[in-house]
Formats: sequence, C-alpha cells, structure tokens
Amino acid sequence: MHYLIALGSNQRHPRFGLPRRVLAAAIDRLAGQDLTIAKASGMITSRPIGPSQRSYANAVAIIETNLLPPRLLERLKRIEAEFGRRRGQPWSRRVLDLDILMWSGGAFDSDTPALTVPHPLMRERSFVIGPAAEIAGDWQDPLTGLTIAQLHARHRRPKKRP
Ligand code: ADP
Ligand code: MG
Repeated sequence: MHYLIALGSNQRHPRFGLPRRVLAAAIDRLAGQDLTIAKASGMITSRPIGPSQRSYANAVAIIETNLLPPRLLERLKRIEAEFGRRRGQPWSRRVLDLDILMWSGGAFDSDTPALTVPHPLMRERSFVIGPAAEIAGDWQDPLTGLTIAQLHARHRRPKKRP
C-alpha cells in the first residue's frame, strides 16, 4: 500500500543539525527493507503554532510498504523517539514529528493506538496541504471526496467576506 506521511521539525538535532537536515535524515532513516520512499516533496518553512516561537521545517512523502496503519505508526513513533523527541507537551518544540496523513486503504480509525487516517487536521493545515499538492495532488480524501489539489485550491482562494 501507499501512504502519505507528514514530517515536521522545529528543533535542531545534535548530530543532524537544523530542522531541514533533521527531515532529510528522517527520510533516510524511514527507508528500509520493508518500506520504500516513492516520492518526497520539497521542504517549506512554516510559522510556529501554539506557544512555541520556533519556525518549522515541513515536508511530506509518499511511501510504499506492506505495514498496516498501526504498525506503521509504531515505526514512526520509534523513529521520533530515536531522534530524541520527548513526549508531553503537544505544542512544544520537537526534533521530529511524523504523522500519517492518508493511505491507499481509505479511512482507518482505532482507539489503541489512537490513530485516525486521514489525519483529522490535515485539511486545515497549509503546511501539509501545500507540500502534499506537489506530490499527491490526485489523492482523494475519502471524507470530503475532494482531491488534495482541490483542498489546496481552497487554501489559495481568498476567503469570502460575510
Ligand atoms: P501532533 O502530531 O498532533 O502534534 P503527537 O505527534 O504527539 O501530536 O501525536 C499525538 C497522538 O496522535 C499519537 O500518539 C498518535 O497515537 C495519535 N494519532 C492519531 N492519528 C494520527 C495520525 N494520523 N498520525 C499520527 N499520529 C496520530
Ligand atoms: Mg504527530
């Protein structure tokens, strides 16, 4: 199956360096025997959300793997931990955040582990939809029926005044 995943970082890593280098290292680290990187988007810099004052580097990637969503999430969390991410404060600075945005299997929901695919906040986040439009414009969101390209167009269209 194919997955679209999001990568984010707003803290340097002692070995890899600046957030962009962290993302590049994470993409290298993800690839392996049972997981292929099919495509990676360019990297963007986005403004911090929440109380954190540090900008983020963001990117998305299409991967191919036979891992089912809970197993892939496990893998992503292990890599986050390996990169030194500390859990606790959801909006605090983080060396690496890896999220599952979509997969070729449609919608997926589970409680343990907590996992919702498509990622519930994906549609509102320009820093996700922008890079995603670059490499996965024709992927269709099973919830809204819109393609990523259409979701992206929505972000670009100025909002109507009331
Ligand atoms: P966030 O990514 O929202 O800033 P975290 O990375 O700390 O926050 O994730 C919090 C929890 O969200 C994870 O422990 C995971 O179980 C859950 N989660 C639910 N859906 C997803 C998804 N699509 N991708 C990644 N994590 C998810
Ligand atoms: Mg996350």
